[in-house]
Amino acid sequence: MRLACISIRQPWALCITHGGKRVENRVSRTHRSDGVPVQPTAHRGPICLHTSRRIDSKGLRDPRIQDLMARLGPEVTMPTGAIVAIAHIVDVHYDTGTCCGVWAARGQWHLALSSVQVLDTPVPARGALSLPWFAPSSVTTQVLDQIKLQDTAAQALEGKESR
Ligand SMILES: [Zn+2]
Repeated sequence: MRLACISIRQPWALCITHGGKRVENRVSRTHRSDGVPVQPTAHRGPICLHTSRRIDSKGLRDPRIQDLMARLGPEVTMPTGAIVAIAHIVDVHYDTGTCCGVWAARGQWHLALSSVQVLDTPVPARGALSLPWFAPSSVTTQVLDQIKLQDTAAQALEGKESR
């Protein structure tokens, strides 16, 4: 199995894992020969959220992020250079001007995310620019092991609740 990955800079990844952000904003400057803009990725379905090594210092000054960090408190960590979660890309569309709530960037492409599962232990990985890029098998194994554990725990919990 190959795991598709997307690299996202902190603190924006933190907004997805801990702040309910369900849209990843992307600029695409690629156009077809007839001038129609090309969406930044054709990928749909499961995708690993990887954090780039470099932090977006401008993002740290964003009031939405400052609010989130104040809510999360001083214990919050911002892993970089690692896969921190797995999610699903359910839709990719161009900004309509009113869609995708407070985290939508106007005039950009929106990758709509759902089913975000945060890993207990971030898995170190080297990122790439392509969208998606694919994790090497050692990384894939470490991510899938944690997802399996989470699923088992969730099933155990559901089993308890239905009794
Ligand atoms: Zn949107």
